Amino acid sequence: MQKILQEAIDNNRHWTAHGAVASYIPELAKENPDALGVCIYNIDNTTLCAGDSHTKFTIQSVSKVVTLICALMDKGKETVFSSVGMEPSADPFNSMVKLETRESHKPLNPFINAGAIVCTSMVQGDNGIEKFNRIHNMIKIMADNPAIDINQSVYRSEKLTGNTNRAIAYYLKGAGLIEKDVEDVLDTYFKLCSIEITALDVAKMASVIANNGITPWSNERLMSIEICRIVKAIMTTCGLYDSSGQFSVDVGLPSKSGVGGCIMAVAPQNMGIAVIGPALDSHGNSMAGKKVLEYLANELNLSIF
Ligand code: GLU
Repeated sequence: MQKILQEAIDNNRHWTAHGAVASYIPELAKENPDALGVCIYNIDNTTLCAGDSHTKFTIQSVSKVVTLICALMDKGKETVFSSVGMEPSADPFNSMVKLETRESHKPLNPFINAGAIVCTSMVQGDNGIEKFNRIHNMIKIMADNPAIDINQSVYRSEKLTGNTNRAIAYYLKGAGLIEKDVEDVLDTYFKLCSIEITALDVAKMASVIANNGITPWSNERLMSIEICRIVKAIMTTCGLYDSSGQFSVDVGLPSKSGVGGCIMAVAPQNMGIAVIGPALDSHGNSMAGKKVLEYLANELNLSIF
């Protein structure tokens, strides 16, 4: 297995040259475009890593998985999906075009920015700090790492330049889809994107979902089987922005990508996988990371289809 992991990195490292690091905020443009790493966390509690797996990166949109989990736990499926849809968008992650043209103004799904901002506002807590703590704690528990924290300079950069997200959130507020103070919700959203993490952390988080909501290392149930089922379905249909369909064909694992260069992948009843490669394709997905997952899915016969 270690050999396959190493081959996945060595055979696909050249793809990093075909992508570019995210540049929408100055802090992310400083990432190393050549980095490529992978970690697997098996539900039998064994772990394997290869490549630049110790690289630290910001979680970005992979946090949307945990935001959705918390919203479902706190408000239930009916309430969550009365304010957010469950359909792929085929538009870029930060698009707002369909907010206005759809009759209900509901964001299409929880993994585009608009949907994640609505889900953030639905998480338990009287204010942004409480909501952030709720999701941050869940990330730390799912990763089994109490030291996970915000990268302050990325947070400041997100907050300073997050004008498109601000426009989205104010539109949603106007449409009556955001509870409480809109700036408070945005601040929580920016903090969540800025959480600093490693591939092993993300692989462990994915292993909880792969193990139907139970931590493989301590046998503790963190969420229901139904929530895992919903989250895996939305990851499969909406997890890779507007190239989720192609990713399902090429890889076939419920996954979520983030512009920090991470892709979290779930091999149900088997393992959690995380790849990190900050050079992104034109959709915002890790260029070489996708190829590493495709290699592993083929070699280990992981596709769910
Ligand atoms: N902080 C980014 C944004 O909201 C996250 C984007 C992403 O990873 O998809 O614009």
